[in-house]
Order: sequence, then structure tokens, then C-alpha cells
Amino acid sequence: MKVVVIGAGIVGASAAYHLAKSGHEVIIVDKREDGEATAAGAGIVCPWLSNVTDPHWHQLAKEAFLCYSSLVEELGAFGEGNLGYKLVGAMRVSEDETELDRIEVLVRERKEVSSEVGEISRLDSEGVQKLFPPLKEGFGAVHVTGGARVDGRLFRDAMLRAAKNVGAIVLEGTGQLISESVDWKKGKGDPHGEGRVKGVRINGEVVLADSVVVTAGAWAKELLETESVSFSVEPQKGQILHLELDQVDTGDWPVVLPPSSHYLLAFDGGRIVVGATRETGSGFDYRVTAAGVNEVLTEALSVAPGLADGMVKDMRVGFRPVGPDVLPIVGNLRKIPGVVVANGLGASGLTLGPYIGRLAGEIVTGTVSAEFDLSPFSPERMV
Ligand code: FAD
Repeated sequence: MKVVVIGAGIVGASAAYHLAKSGHEVIIVDKREDGEATAAGAGIVCPWLSNVTDPHWHQLAKEAFLCYSSLVEELGAFGEGNLGYKLVGAMRVSEDETELDRIEVLVRERKEVSSEVGEISRLDSEGVQKLFPPLKEGFGAVHVTGGARVDGRLFRDAMLRAAKNVGAIVLEGTGQLISESVDWKKGKGDPHGEGRVKGVRINGEVVLADSVVVTAGAWAKELLETESVSFSVEPQKGQILHLELDQVDTGDWPVVLPPSSHYLLAFDGGRIVVGATRETGSGFDYRVTAAGVNEVLTEALSVAPGLADGMVKDMRVGFRPVGPDVLPIVGNLRKIPGVVVANGLGASGLTLGPYIGRLAGEIVTGTVSAEFDLSPFSPERMV
């Protein structure tokens, strides 16, 4: 089967890798747009401490967490060891013990269906600061060992290289859908094609394909609108800051989730990532703004004053693809047979992305391995 994947973020890279690994002919194209979410994402992979309560989301998230472990192993076999992925644990911190009691109950319930949550423990202020020294005094925490962090850029690039290794073609350029529907409406084309996808125009050149996977993130709406398909995914801008602590070994520090929607996490080499703004209705405004820097820094230093001496290394901007609800969108597009979309991952796309990409590939080839109902994730709910 010949498949073109449009968009090489974490979702598209995974779809391309899994399809190529199964022996399909794959071309993946990306226009390398400013603000790709995968390149800006913080990298928290810990669904167990999430505020999302939807059971369908959690069913998917459990599979996604497991998918990471198998992918790390598979990519290792391709010589891809530098993924920025590590099981470092995660903690929800708060000064309110009653709130921590509530979180602990919730996490213990989640562990009943997902043993991957790992060990759950309560920490006092000293224990919290021992694990993440820049945090202020006074926080207690619910800590889980089954939390991870990942460098989205490294992981995506490794999947693309592995996909290439098993025969995929990776191109830079803009992909546009070509379907029967346009010709058909004009009285040309094959009326029995019923609007089926024919392929993709890449930088103006026609590439025929049996199926197309659209993993274009926040840009999918404009791509699908050219085929008269309305798709309610919008960009939500996130500004996120990278700091560097001199001479501090931060490689094993856990993910920290304070009571707000902000967070802190660490990578090797003293790198601390703090974020992020959630700017709904932002459009594609790819600017670092004074208000964005102020919000992220104020929040970070209020919970972790020990970061004040950190060097500012980078401020990144990304556009989360946000759908009409919290559930990802993955499935066949009824309006254009042959097109599978995978999108709407919002603030959890680095967590769910590799699995959603694999699922998209399985939907294309009719080999879905998921043992749960995928209808809650169908793109048809947006029509
Ligand atoms: P993207 O990564 O945006 O990829 C889409 C790609 O499609 C782009 O590369 C674009 O260039 C390409 N494209 C679009 N149109 C076309 C076209 N016509 N032709 C060719 N190419 C095209 N998630 C977590 O799980 N944990 C986190 O800690 C986390 N933190 C985040 C922090 C920030 C600041 C942001 C912005 C996001 C964060 N996320 C996090 C969310 C996560 O990053 C996204 O949900 C995820 O990366 C979305 O992946 P994607 O592949 O759908 O989209």
C-alpha cells in the first residue's frame, strides 16, 4: 500500500515509522512551519497526575504510556539512544494537604487499572526539596514513580530516521490533498470514486497514493478546508522557557506539577523547562511577548525561587492543536474516503502522540490492535 503522511510532528513521524516498518510504501512531508507543537512541547509524559477525568482519554493514555516503552526499545535497535526519554517520576505539589489527599485517592484509583502508575508516596517539604531543590519550602507532594519526560524534537527526529531506515521517504515541502471530489463535482473524474483521495500535491508535484494520513497539527483546518471539509481544530499558543543551572546534575529530577496549569521539569546538563502559557484564540501569532515571558517567569519563580540564578537559554513558541473537546481525533474522514486524520491532542500530544500515530497507521491498513472502542475519538463527532 502506498501512503502519504502530511505533517511530521510527533504524530506523523510515528505514523510514518509504524507504516514503513510494516512494509508499506511511505512518503512523509512537512513544511517545517514556525511553531510546530512537537518542537516546543515541554515533554511531560505522566497521564496519571492529569486533571483530565474522561475515562476514554485514560484508556488511550495507558496504551500511549506503554507505547513509549516499546518504542524506546525499538528505536534503540536502530541505534537511536538519544531520545531525551527517561522515567524520572513526577509529583503534584501543594501547600494544601486536603488537596493532596484528594489527588492521592484519585491516583490510587487510577493505579487499579494502570499498574504503570508505579509506586505512590506522600512527601513532606524536605522530601520535595530533596528531589527538586529549587522549589520553595512548604510544599507537600503526591509522588509517582511512573512519570516520564521526553525531548519531543529528539524523539520525533529519531522516529523519522528509523522510518527512513525501513524505506520511508522524508520530504520537506507543503502537502495539499488531491481527491476525486473536486473533479467529480465539476462533472469530470470518476463518479464511482465517491470523492476518494487520489494523492497529495507536494510542492506542486502530484504524488498518487492509496491513502493519506493528515497529521498537520494546528494547520489541519486550513488543509482540509481546501477540500470543503470543516475541521474544528484551532491553534492554542504556548510560550515556554528553558533555563540552565550551572554545574547542577538535573538529569534525574522529577516532573513537578504545582496547583496551577504551569509546570517545571528537568533534562540532562542543568536544563530546566518551565511553562507554559495557554493562549486560546491566539491564531498563529509566533511572537515571544512580554506578557508571555512575565507569566511564565512569575509563576516559575513563585514556586521555585531557587531558579532565579538560572541562565535564560531559550523561549519557545508552539501551537497546540486543540479540538472541540479533550479527546484526540483519530479515524477515517467520511467525506474523503482514503484519508485518515490524527489530531486534536491539545496539551497532551507528546504523551499521546506516538500511540495516536501508530493507531492512525493501523486504521489505514485495517489492522487496528486497540481492544477498546475507538468511536469516541472519531472525526465524525466534529461534523
Ligand atoms: P505538530 O507537532 O504541530 O506537527 C504538525 C506538523 O504538520 C508541523 O510540523 C507542520 O509544519 C506540519 N504541516 C502542517 N500543515 C502542513 C502541510 N500542508 N504540508 C506539510 N506539512 C504541514 N504535550 C505533552 O504530552 N506533554 C507536555 O509536556 C506538553 N507540553 C507542551 C508545551 C507547549 C508550550 C506546547 C505548545 C505543547 C505542549 N504539549 C505537550 C502538546 C504537544 O506538544 C502537542 O499536542 C503535539 O506536539 C502535537 O503534535 P502534532 O504532531 O499533532 O502537531
